[in-house]
Amino acid sequence: LLQLYMPLHFLGFVYREIKHSLADMERMFSLLDENREIQDKPDALKLNARNPAIRFDRVNFGYDTNRQILYDVTFEIPAGHNIAVVGQSGSGKSTLARLLFRFYDIQTGSIRINGQDIRDVTQQSLRAAMGIVPQDTVLFNDSIYYNIAYGRPDATQEEVYSAARSAHIHDFIMTLPEKYETIVGERGLKLSGGEKQRVAIARTILKNPAVLIFDEATSALDSDSEKKIQAELKRIAQNRTTLTIAHRLSTVADADQILVMENGRIIERGKHIQLLAANQSYARMWALQQRQQAISPDTDSRLSET
Ligand code: ADP
Ligand code: MG
Repeated sequence: LLQLYMPLHFLGFVYREIKHSLADMERMFSLLDENREIQDKPDALKLNARNPAIRFDRVNFGYDTNRQILYDVTFEIPAGHNIAVVGQSGSGKSTLARLLFRFYDIQTGSIRINGQDIRDVTQQSLRAAMGIVPQDTVLFNDSIYYNIAYGRPDATQEEVYSAARSAHIHDFIMTLPEKYETIVGERGLKLSGGEKQRVAIARTILKNPAVLIFDEATSALDSDSEKKIQAELKRIAQNRTTLTIAHRLSTVADADQILVMENGRIIERGKHIQLLAANQSYARMWALQQRQQAISPDTDSRLSET
């Protein structure tokens, strides 16, 4: 989602969008409207994001009042730890990421970072502390350079290139007709799902945030590229507070803790080895994925490319 990439540069972006075409106006205003729902309190403080520990405490949430999505979700990410979330599609995993960004306010319970309720801090300081690689990256209709530098607009060219190299996209960019100045997005060069994910990864590496959120960050990559980029993601997540939403369980087997979600509830939690021993939901999902992997290692990436 576009909204998941928040506006250090929002006004510049609005301006560029309006400049590009009137057709985008509608989309822009619906975006602005959505952001207007969430307001800073008049006395909002800056988030203290040093060594952030995150706590969800009995969080209940629904996008609409008539349909609850999350039920009593409680978990903690100690500073520097990596917590993984797995579960069927629709179980509420991405919703956790959206709530942590405060795109919506919860109905009951609390979400705290270093003890500060995220409703008590400025959205600007909250979002500055977080970098997300979302499930579906939407690129701006602008140069690929702009799309990466958006993570930290004051970055030097060398820093942008270095982030792109870490995300294994630099070499690809250099093959494009106008290299980093190539216009991408809906009205420019259309990138594949995997290429867009790499741009989002480069952006996040460049941003170098205190909190990392990976939402199925490598789901559109083939298993070879996924392995390479996973290694890179592990490196940047080292000693950093990280929430990893995973599709392929093998990518999170080494997480400090794994939460298993089903229909908006955490139904199991523990380390990989404990969850296997418990022989419940996680163990079944693991066995199933191991079998699929043995038959056809690239099955799901091929599906998502089509
Ligand atoms: P997951 O990431 O585990 O696949 P999500 O957190 O995206 O699941 O979605 C959980 C549930 O919330 C799904 O039933 C989905 O249809 C619903 N949902 C997601 N986004 C919205 C939204 N913006 N408005 C209403 N319902 C939504
Ligand atoms: Mg999701």
